[in-house]
Amino acid sequence: MTYKIAVIPGDGIGNEVVPQGVRALEAAARRFDLSLDFIDCDFASCDYYERHGRMLPDDWREQLGTMDALFFGAVGMPERVPDHITLWGSLLQFRRVFDQYINLRPCRLMPGIKSPLAGRKPGDIDFYVVRENTEGEYSSVGGKMFEGTEREVVIQETVMSRTGVDRVLKFAFELAMTRPRRKLTSATKSNGISITMPWWDERVAEMAGHYPEISLDKFHIDILAANFVLHPDWFDVVVASNLFGDILSDLGPACTGTIGVAPSANINPEKTFPSLFEPVHGSAPDIFGKGIANPIGQIWSAAMMLEHLGHQDAADAVVRAIEKVLAAGPDEAPLTPDLGGRGITDELGNAIANAIKAS
Ligand code: ATP
Ligand code: MG
Repeated sequence: MTYKIAVIPGDGIGNEVVPQGVRALEAAARRFDLSLDFIDCDFASCDYYERHGRMLPDDWREQLGTMDALFFGAVGMPERVPDHITLWGSLLQFRRVFDQYINLRPCRLMPGIKSPLAGRKPGDIDFYVVRENTEGEYSSVGGKMFEGTEREVVIQETVMSRTGVDRVLKFAFELAMTRPRRKLTSATKSNGISITMPWWDERVAEMAGHYPEISLDKFHIDILAANFVLHPDWFDVVVASNLFGDILSDLGPACTGTIGVAPSANINPEKTFPSLFEPVHGSAPDIFGKGIANPIGQIWSAAMMLEHLGHQDAADAVVRAIEKVLAAGPDEAPLTPDLGGRGITDELGNAIANAIKAS
């Protein structure tokens, strides 16, 4: 079959790294005999907003809804358009309308990259953060009373549904089942958050009954964050609510070195809707136009996309190509300045595409 991939570079360095991701996908498609049809989308950017007064065309649901995956760069140029307009007008619409209820981020220390955690080597840090992506603490339920007075009160509710939580837990347990360590850690705070979090723990315990092979533990979010830094080797798959997952899924990749290499996926596991694959980093206006953006986060996101589409061999080849080029080091490979090299985006993308072809 032919996969239809919407290519949405967005803003800033999205325009520099997305073509390198496409290049890697083309190399993988040739090597593994896959048929990928790339559809370029010029919306979800500040340029589009300045021309049309909105981030997306009216028929974006129809246009994107028929795709097999969305390959996204970054959105936002806060000097031109406020971030709440760009983000709510594009990426968050995709996540909600396409029910991408899993946010998945691998946290893996790659060869040749220095972790900010002293003494950590590749192999010491290799886990996933699974974040609930559609409900929880990020609800818009709440309000203000006595606004502007001494008696002012503000309330914002956490909304968790059994369906919403169970489906994320199931994804996390299933992911843990695919990994040799078969270990799952749940992020909680049931000592302080006395209604939703004890209930979250109950849902975890019930789901665990279906997965006797999984070794399960749970930590309160505060000590869990500390243990990401102190004992990253303890973790295999970590599952968390929207807010806790948001924090952990930035902290985890931060422990694995430069932000330029970290990938992420917003997944609708049932494939009712397309899932979205994007690097963890943003549009980085400060380095845009200089040609020095690291394309690896985007290329690794392409690997996650191939895996989601069911092509594990192609996904593995892309990740191995990244590892091979990184392991060669800045003297042998055209690594970008954030990796200690003097290479440019295009050269690094080319080196990885060549490594995929040679795999
Ligand atoms: P967000 O969009 O998540 O709010 P941001 O746009 O403020 O984040 P990022 O774009 O993630 O921030 O970038 C933060 C810093 O990291 C940038 O200033 C940039 O120098 C650096 N950076 C980000 N991505 C890359 C990359 N791919 N290669 C090299 N450096 C990067
Ligand atoms: Mg940004």
